[in-house]
Amino acid sequence: MIIILKPHATDEQIQHVVERVESLGLQAHLSRGSYRTIVGVIGDEAKLHVTPLKAIAGVAEVIPVLPAYKLASVEAQREPTIVDVGGVQVGGGHLAMIAGPCAIEGAERLDIIATAVKKAGANILRGGAFKPRTSPYAYQGMGEEGLKILRDIGDKHGMPVVTEVMDTRRVEMVAEYTDMIQVGARNMQNFSLLTEVGQTGRPVLLKRGMSATVQDLLMSAEYILSQGNPHVVLCERGVKGFDPATRNLFDVAAVPCIKGLSHLPIIVDPSHATGRPDLIPPCALAGVAAGADGVHIEVHNQPEDAMSDGPQALLPEQYAKIAAQISDLAKLLGKEISPLPGVHA
Ligand code: PEP
Ligand code: MN
Repeated sequence: MIIILKPHATDEQIQHVVERVESLGLQAHLSRGSYRTIVGVIGDEAKLHVTPLKAIAGVAEVIPVLPAYKLASVEAQREPTIVDVGGVQVGGGHLAMIAGPCAIEGAERLDIIATAVKKAGANILRGGAFKPRTSPYAYQGMGEEGLKILRDIGDKHGMPVVTEVMDTRRVEMVAEYTDMIQVGARNMQNFSLLTEVGQTGRPVLLKRGMSATVQDLLMSAEYILSQGNPHVVLCERGVKGFDPATRNLFDVAAVPCIKGLSHLPIIVDPSHATGRPDLIPPCALAGVAAGADGVHIEVHNQPEDAMSDGPQALLPEQYAKIAAQISDLAKLLGKEISPLPGVHA
């Protein structure tokens, strides 16, 4: 940590800063220039986070050297984390292909979609049983009945499943039915939910909040990691932009940016990022080209009848086409789409 003092900080103020640092068992290295004095702090920086050093008279700026997301950072771990989702590896060159409808609408329909996406190369089946809808009058999901359907259809096709949990009271129930728990964009900073989900030990798909910075996302991951759950996959799903031409603003640069900061896998969700079927394939490819560890795409066999997010759903044949292109691109990059459990690449 570096503490920069104000231009006219007095000797007493500088001395006070030094004493404060030393009182915490850390070393203070004073460097006096013609205009400014800076104090370099050596030792466990975490001890200083609790101290509001910036409030000390004479202090202009306090600059941490290490990131606040201690467990999620590349400083904490050099090798990429590989998360095992029901036998499907995500990260470290293994791509997740998460696909399925926005909402679970019934067993028959999910079965049709699962059959199609599996054939196309998807390795994790998605579907929402608890839907975060802007309107309380919109379709809210099938609840536990939907979870049962997702589990059954996933098992039938030998696919691990992922579904969203929105409420701390439902974490245990959702964890029982699913291989991976999704924390949606709207709940990325629901800290009680993150803690609760962390305690399950289940793999977590943590989606970036629509107004969250990269740092915010990594701090939210830290909540899960700090519960002793290392199985976190991040997801870039677009942030709020100014242009209604797309649903959100797909921040593809966040992918390599996060790769430079964290060892955690990061996938992209071009469905929610763009909200437009015509933009999903190019953005999926852009995400993988940028280093993403997978792609999350909503697929529906009858988008016009979908209970949620129909207008952005890809048809199964459209999904098959982009999945094949992603597979080719993965090979070019020396990566692979993870095989399903029991299936050899
Ligand atoms: C979803 O995956 O269905 C979803 C609601 O996504 P997000 O939280 O990214 O909006
Ligand atoms: Mn959706």
